[in-house]
Amino acid sequence: MNQDNGFEIQRASMVDYQLRARGIESPQVLEAMGRVAREAFIPERMRDCAYDDGPLPIGAGQTISQPYIVALMTEALDLEGGEKLLDIGTGSGYAAAVLGSIAGKVFSIERVQELADRAARTLADEGFDNVEVRCGDGTMGWPEHQPYDGIIVAAGAPAVPESLKRQLAVGGHLVIPVGKEHSVQSLMRITRLAQGEFRTEDLGAVRFVPLLGEQGWS
Ligand code: SAH
Repeated sequence: MNQDNGFEIQRASMVDYQLRARGIESPQVLEAMGRVAREAFIPERMRDCAYDDGPLPIGAGQTISQPYIVALMTEALDLEGGEKLLDIGTGSGYAAAVLGSIAGKVFSIERVQELADRAARTLADEGFDNVEVRCGDGTMGWPEHQPYDGIIVAAGAPAVPESLKRQLAVGGHLVIPVGKEHSVQSLMRITRLAQGEFRTEDLGAVRFVPLLGEQGWS
């Protein structure tokens, strides 16, 4: 068995045991997570852990999220395919790749230059030419390309940033962890029902690194 096959088998069992068995149902999400090579997004020396059931360090004190959390957040966006999305906290680029294999276009922002550069390279190498990465403060969104059909934030915020709510299309969802800086957060889903009308749902407890920036932590 060559190494690629090894990863393929691990990926298929991750989809079955970590995602499907825990209630992820969306065929688009299961298919995307079964397709994106997670091993390509983590440091070389940790590739053997690529399909572990948890987050992994990716440098600069940051982590690639647990596969289940990526699936849960992606499923919460209710995608059908072809959407324009905003991804805050590119990190390794893995979540952006999962989003990019379902949506039409993904704009992704990372505040650490080194991570943004590496993620952009990995995404290009893996053929995700519909994902654009920029280095900057994601709490302000990416106004040029608004409105977004969905926005996903992979770092914990003190409160829901107003600028992100404003950049959401009517009918779109914003999925973001909100809560105290170094403790568990609540994964919130904010849906824009009409121009000035939003619905908020609590999807459960999660633990993320802090969202740093103008509308995040200082
Ligand atoms: N989605 C990533 C997970 C990254 S962890 C993946 O799939 O690998 C969260 C990331 O958010 C970290 O890389 C951190 O540097 C970044 N981050 C924190 N605050 C940010 C901000 N204001 N704007 C953009 N990125 C931010």
